[in-house]
Amino acid sequence: MGRQQSLAQLKDNCIFDLLVIGGGATGCGVALDAASRGLSVALIEKNDFSEGTSSRSTKLAHGGVRYLEMAVKKLDRVQYNLVRDGLRERHILLKNAPHLSNRLALVTPLYRWIDIPYVFSGLKLYDMLAGKRNIGHSRLLSRKEVLRRFPTVKAEGLKAGVLYYDGQFHDARLVLALALTAEQHGATIINHVAVSGIIKENGKATGAKVTDSLNGETWQLNAKVVINATGPFADQIRMMDNPAATKILSASSGIHIVLDKRFAPPDTGLMIPETEDGRVLFVLPWENHALIGTTDEPAEISEHPRPLETEIDYLLRHVTRYFNLQVEKSDIKAVWSGLRPLVSDPKAIDTAQLARDHIIEESDSGLLTIAGGKWTTYRKMALDTVDHVLKRFDLFAPQSSCQTEQLPIRGGAEYSENGNLELRDKYGFDADVATYLHRTYGDQAKLVAQLAAEGYGARLSEKHPVLEAEVLYAVRFELAERVIDVLARRMSLALLDTKATRQAVPRVLKLMTDELGWDQKRIEEETLLVEKRLTEAL
Ligand SMILES: Cc1cc2nc3c(=O)[nH]c(=O)nc-3n(C[C@H](O)[C@H](O)[C@H](O)COP(=O)(O)OP(=O)(O)OC[C@H]3O[C@@H](n4cnc5c(N)ncnc54)[C@H](O)[C@@H]3O)c2cc1C
Repeated sequence: MGRQQSLAQLKDNCIFDLLVIGGGATGCGVALDAASRGLSVALIEKNDFSEGTSSRSTKLAHGGVRYLEMAVKKLDRVQYNLVRDGLRERHILLKNAPHLSNRLALVTPLYRWIDIPYVFSGLKLYDMLAGKRNIGHSRLLSRKEVLRRFPTVKAEGLKAGVLYYDGQFHDARLVLALALTAEQHGATIINHVAVSGIIKENGKATGAKVTDSLNGETWQLNAKVVINATGPFADQIRMMDNPAATKILSASSGIHIVLDKRFAPPDTGLMIPETEDGRVLFVLPWENHALIGTTDEPAEISEHPRPLETEIDYLLRHVTRYFNLQVEKSDIKAVWSGLRPLVSDPKAIDTAQLARDHIIEESDSGLLTIAGGKWTTYRKMALDTVDHVLKRFDLFAPQSSCQTEQLPIRGGAEYSENGNLELRDKYGFDADVATYLHRTYGDQAKLVAQLAAEGYGARLSEKHPVLEAEVLYAVRFELAERVIDVLARRMSLALLDTKATRQAVPRVLKLMTDELGWDQKRIEEETLLVEKRLTEAL
């Protein structure tokens, strides 16, 4: 459905069953869960889908090795449940979005003999908890094997390693795929429309005042239930509902840096088990590059958090400590920051205590806030939210139970392992392009390939497999409205390589101008915005 059609539906004065505010993993997950049960749903995203935290994660679908350590050390059932839920959801994600996710082998290098039994038994327990959903057995690696699998790791003092498996996924594209799958199930979804107020009748939340950020138009949306899924911004919406509401959110920032692929082998990640501040750190293969993260610093809540020099130094320091390679700031191809929404449970006696799981809070007006959790458990968070809605509100859903466990996510239904070979043979793509299109678009890749065959097959950057055809596809079928939507979230170029992105901007701008009929004012606005994002913060 195009933007104009979605806007027409949203202005139709109808009353939706649910209005979901926020188009990150949580909001799009809720929209999909509700729409697939047959509820009528509107989803409003202020910026672009996943432009908040959900495109800036480490991209691991995991139970959380560190949570497991806490669960065991403190005999903590909540932490244990988090790991168990994460491992279950990891399995469902790999099954329902096979094009956007993969199993990833991770190596933990060990430099002290004493750590070997500790880490090995912990990861064995991790396997056991996954049960029949386990995706590979952990095992000990000799020093030689560690260096064979991860040749750049520091050999000096290395004793052994442990190999284990987790899931990896393409976070930005998965949010988009969730939104588009929700749309296929009848939801009306839109980006670049912001909620600026909660409407109430007799003290009950009955909708929201919304503004189209692209043209400033304002109108009201009516819904039986309003759901606040705005991640780090949840308090802003809670305060639109009740200016006296107690804040439940704080944020911590986490940055990632992207280096050239020579820093990580293509099929194995590295998990550094203990950083100088007692955290874990990952060096992962990602889109033919090395992704390194992350940090954890208390932060102000802002839409585009800036990576701090101290955070960059911290990551480089650790990489240098664990690698035989000298890594300099000039090696960094891209850097970006995200905000972890940390919630304190409003019902907890000690309000400073952070909830480790997600929370669903219902305000006096009936506004529901779903916050916390992690990317991996978005589906469970959505399920709990919609179950809560059906229990507490007078709504009829044709399917009362959750449908998403068996629901393929757009691009996944007819995905076949060897689809890249078909693309290469039929359209004559280079091998890297065929593999990239296959993994990025799944069973929709042939539509992009057709556009490429119609004269849009040129690369946007000589060093990356991204094509002009993707720009048209993003505008026509994937709700991309701005140049930066295409460069940062329909394709990942901006998160991988700032220099290559700058070089691609004029061509993307031209393609979008021709497609959308932009005037000079809009062209200037887009040029400024993309430069601002690339210079200041994505
Ligand atoms: C550095 C880092 C690494 C992480 N790594 C992992 C990982 O590897 N695995 C994992 O499972 N989890 C990970 N997480 C956690 C995970 O990314 C988050 O839990 C998840 O993305 C939160 O999604 P969300 O939809 O709740 O929030 P968001 O993605 O922030 O979405 C909220 C949306 O609401 C929109 N919004 C705000 N105000 C309004 C308004 N007024 N009107 C309309 N829309 C509005 C925002 O624009 C935003 O798009 C990581 C988090 C960070 C910060």
